[in-house]
Order: sequence, then C-alpha cells, then structure tokens
Amino acid sequence: MSRTGNGIIEHGKPHRLMAVWTAAHDNGWVTSVVENPDGSFAAWAAPDGEGAGVYTIQPDVDGGKAAAEAALQRHTGHDGCSNGCSLWEVRTYAVFDRRRKTESRATVRAAVAARRTASRRGAAA
Ligand SMILES: [Zn+2]
Repeated sequence: MSRTGNGIIEHGKPHRLMAVWTAAHDNGWVTSVVENPDGSFAAWAAPDGEGAGVYTIQPDVDGGKAAAEAALQRHTGHDGCSNGCSLWEVRTYAVFDRRRKTESRATVRAAVAARRTASRRGAAA
C-alpha cells in the first residue's frame, strides 16, 4: 500500500507528534529513547541498523537515557562515551495512525529511521 518508499505510510493528519532521542556510539551501537503515548519512555540499546535490543520503560526521558546507556555498557562493555560517540539528539516525528493498536509499530519505524539518520551522520563525521 505504501508507495512512498521511505517507510512512512500516510493516512491523513498526524495522530500526534512523537519525540525520539538517539545517540550513536563509537562501538557501532545506538541508544534510543522514545516517548510513549502514555507519557512513559521506552529506552533501548541495539547495534546500529537492528530493530531488536535491550528494552526498558522509564518514567522520564532522563531515566530513559540513563537506562539505555546502562544497557549499552552492560552488553557491550562500553565504559563511558568518547569523542567518537554522538551526543543525544532529539527529533520529533509526526505519527500517522488510525488506531492505537498500530502505535507501537509506528514507534519502532520512527526509531529505526532515527537510527539510520544518526548512522549516516556518524559516517560522514
Ligand atoms: Zn558512547
């Protein structure tokens, strides 16, 4: 059904705006925090380009960042960030959604897109 080719299927007006924080690390992993519709924050760390990772829910964005970084350290031994790591950056995405049921899927899509963008910038730096 999608012909846009960019992974975003448009159905009309944005359901809501969603904030996504990402940081790319010098070991090829990316930490991500996504604002959930209920006000909580999903945080995870995963190898760049992979959808699966270590996933936690935190009550605030700072907690999410800390949890994502802790997960990164636990799983990769990444002990503090270097100059090769990017700082946290936030982007806002419009979520096109007809049903709440599909929201988690849209969240994952946006997070993957954010990771790709972070990856490109990392490669160019
Ligand atoms: Zn780092």
